[in-house]
Amino acid sequence: MENLRFKRVLFKLSGEALAGNKGFGIDPETVSAFCGQIVEAAEMGVQLAMVIGGGNIFRGMSASASGMDRASADYMGMLATVMNAVAVQDALEKLGLCTRVLSAITMREVCEPYIRRRAIHHLEKGRVVICAAGTGNPYFTTDTAAALRAMELKTQAIIKGTKVDGVYDKDPKTNPDAVMFDRLTYMDVLEKQLKVMDSTAVTLAMDNSMPIVVFNMFVPGNLKKVVTGQKAGTIVE
Ligand code: UDP
Repeated sequence: MENLRFKRVLFKLSGEALAGNKGFGIDPETVSAFCGQIVEAAEMGVQLAMVIGGGNIFRGMSASASGMDRASADYMGMLATVMNAVAVQDALEKLGLCTRVLSAITMREVCEPYIRRRAIHHLEKGRVVICAAGTGNPYFTTDTAAALRAMELKTQAIIKGTKVDGVYDKDPKTNPDAVMFDRLTYMDVLEKQLKVMDSTAVTLAMDNSMPIVVFNMFVPGNLKKVVTGQKAGTIVE
């Protein structure tokens, strides 16, 4: 086993990361592009739990803004995360990894139910655990689910894979002069309303001293850098 800074991590992946340039749905090429990095980390002995978003398919807030009941819309959002989880499972298994999807909404024909002790057992066996259906409750997000699962599964960090290199003072896509931070405190993120994770997730991480690393997962080798403690992205701690 190489020198690891983080031996067990919670990898949060937003739904949009699966959509590639299409911006919607699941792009198999994009999915397999970053799954290679997950294989690399798993082969180094890192225990990986993942929480996958659903924004590439359905977002409860947007649907409720157009008149749909918020709770119903959120349940649809959670179902969308299950589809993404199964897509990532398929891609990882094609690359030879052993995986389990554990859903916060029971769907026994599709995947296992989320049971904390079972999730830990899978991690100890070297299986990648993909946590689906968020927290199982409406009015939450998959960012909050990621923070919650990180605490429950006793991971050493939440690592958030994005399309940009880290956390910036303004949106780097629209502001070429945006400056990236190497390190931030939880309070910096909350006070400056930086787009790291939503405030519920950041607060939960702060209360439990769980570091958050935001990095570009489309740069080959970046996940390896994060787990071995090399500089890649922004760390919030
Ligand atoms: N969602 C929810 N409870 C949860 C997690 C997710 O109701 O615990 C719903 C919510 O409607 C959200 C959607 O699922 O908009 C998709 O999740 P999210 O927006 O967090 O996905 P991401 O932005 O990471 O792709």
